[in-house]
Amino acid sequence: MATKNGRTPLFPVKATMPWTFAAGSTERARTDKALADIRATSFDIANEINGKEVRTGSTLPIVTPHEHSHQLGQFHKAGPAETQAAIDAALEASTWWSRVPWEERVAPFLRAADMLEHGPWREKLNAATMLELSKTTYQADIDAACETLDFIRYNVENMLKMYAEQPSSFPGAWNSVEYRPLEGFVFAVSPFNFTCMNNLAFGPAVLGNTIVWKPAESASLVAHLSLQLLKEAGLPDGVINVVYGHGQDIGPTAIAHKDLAAVHFTGSTATFQSLWKQVGNNIENYRNYPRVVGETGGKDFIVVHPSAHIDEVAAACIRGAYEFQGQKCSAASRLYAPKSMWPALRERLIEMTNQVVVGDPTLPTTYVGAVINENQFRKHEAVLASARAEGIVVVGGNTDGSKGWFVDPTILEVSDPNSRYITEEHFAPILTTYVYDDNKWEEVLKIVDSSTAYGLTGAVFAQDMKAIQQADHALRYSAGNFYINDKPTGSVVGQQPFGGARASGTNDKAGSLWSSIRFSSPRTTKVNHLPVSDFGYPHLDKK
Ligand code: NAD
Repeated sequence: MATKNGRTPLFPVKATMPWTFAAGSTERARTDKALADIRATSFDIANEINGKEVRTGSTLPIVTPHEHSHQLGQFHKAGPAETQAAIDAALEASTWWSRVPWEERVAPFLRAADMLEHGPWREKLNAATMLELSKTTYQADIDAACETLDFIRYNVENMLKMYAEQPSSFPGAWNSVEYRPLEGFVFAVSPFNFTCMNNLAFGPAVLGNTIVWKPAESASLVAHLSLQLLKEAGLPDGVINVVYGHGQDIGPTAIAHKDLAAVHFTGSTATFQSLWKQVGNNIENYRNYPRVVGETGGKDFIVVHPSAHIDEVAAACIRGAYEFQGQKCSAASRLYAPKSMWPALRERLIEMTNQVVVGDPTLPTTYVGAVINENQFRKHEAVLASARAEGIVVVGGNTDGSKGWFVDPTILEVSDPNSRYITEEHFAPILTTYVYDDNKWEEVLKIVDSSTAYGLTGAVFAQDMKAIQQADHALRYSAGNFYINDKPTGSVVGQQPFGGARASGTNDKAGSLWSSIRFSSPRTTKVNHLPVSDFGYPHLDKK
């Protein structure tokens, strides 16, 4: 039976607190055991179509980035035939899933959130994230556990807020809006860098959509385990179908299908633009105009006013630029420092960078693990080789791919504010600095705004209120997430709705009400209580 709208209050949704992993804590012991279990398993991950495991025999290994000789197993690559089967399964499931009352639809999601919060799923997903993505315990927990379950709970809360948004009715008629799921299937395409990007599939599904999910090649294990969690929590077969492998083997079949209802994408700007172009080229063949929702790259800034506190700036640079090896779309990757502060700030950054431990992220003292794979590593290797040759390295600047894909936490200094080092996304622990004259504050704000194509995140550090207002005004469109005296990373679902415009995406703010609206197709119903039986109007009266 289909329910339309209606709202029963949900428990108040609160942000999930990360575990501390302090020495001797139970969570540390539980995580160590989960790490050992995952390491000892050889996964053989199949595509999941209508609840069935589909193995193609064409496989890729699941590699641990910080120890690339160690494989966690393999996954089976999908091609056009498996993609077509996944689409068929999603379309079949949409005939009934879209009509399941929302109270029943949300049940597996909320159950999965509770199961994840309290373990053993929490340490299992965290451990897989540490081993497959090379995250430290804390970075894994804020992603795989906290953000995943915040997304799930806020999706439900947002859905109910959306359902509560209803038109007026007056005596004589009753009006309502039904928030139908989209007609067709949602193609969810996720990046490698966050386990919680399972939300690209989960978010639309809770609204009644059915999904074909293509996770990044380097995040296949965490995607597989995320879906296993949801299935164990009761998600029916066919609602979320997963196809693993390369974009070019899967994307064209999904994009060309007439029942493509939406593309829900997170990843690089180049891939998103190519998907959007494919949708545009196929526009005459769709049943509906597909929604195209994408969050993409960034070149996120920290701009420092001379009135800022130097230690706060330095800590924000280290955390913002180096955590998870700078592989966050929000990572600080350009720093604008005043000349008066730079010598002392430079020393502070060198000192702090030298304290950062690079290595195996499963060891509690490690701050920076390895970058995700050899392709990325080779790109960073080339960038840093050029930086060394140009003599712009302040600290770091080396790489070591002998055991794992390690890139030194690095500070560069350029004299040209349009240099590629300070305008192009590297996705590595590299922070490029441009030093400006203290009396050119307003000019530097213009440079921050205009020198990159992106508009994702950014931070201003200042104690002077006027300077903060100037930055707030000048950088209004430079970042969708703007921070005052804080690092530009670490947004929390429900607190700092995340996303940017310009080349950084469609800014639909993942996990927010605005995002839920994009995956709904409202239908308005008017029930006329007093139908008329005369077609005329008073002004037609000839008397
Ligand atoms: P990517 O663009 O290489 O890949 C993203 C996904 O697209 C992967 O699943 C990939 O296999 C798939 N893909 C590639 N070509 C395809 C095709 N032709 N058809 C269908 N799918 C295709 O990005 P990545 O390296 O995985 O992730 C890093 C990027 O993601 C960075 O640019 C980062 O800034 C961005 N990112 C943005 C956000 C955000 O919220 N703005 C969040 C996380 C990551």
